[in-house]
Amino acid sequence: MQIPCPLCGPRDIREFTYKGHATYLDRPAEDAAPEAWHAYLHLRDNPAGATRDLWYHGAGCTAWLVVERDTATHAVTGARLAREVKHAG
Ligand SMILES: [Zn+2]
Repeated sequence: MQIPCPLCGPRDIREFTYKGHATYLDRPAEDAAPEAWHAYLHLRDNPAGATRDLWYHGAGCTAWLVVERDTATHAVTGARLAREVKHAG
């Protein structure tokens, strides 16, 4: 399996480290209600299908990526720099 790093091109998945679901980019405000922090830290969907995850390219450019993949087929359909996804709103 390969991940298409936007900076390095397609690379073997062993160069990357999985860091969790991409919802980690949507961190609540420091003064958010405890329920918001509970949802952020503990509640996750477990889809059978399309998902977006954070991956770290530690053996390459050290970029954080948002990788789109299918949990049922393991097909990777895209990857973007996490900093661009975060600032896209
Ligand atoms: Zn890279």
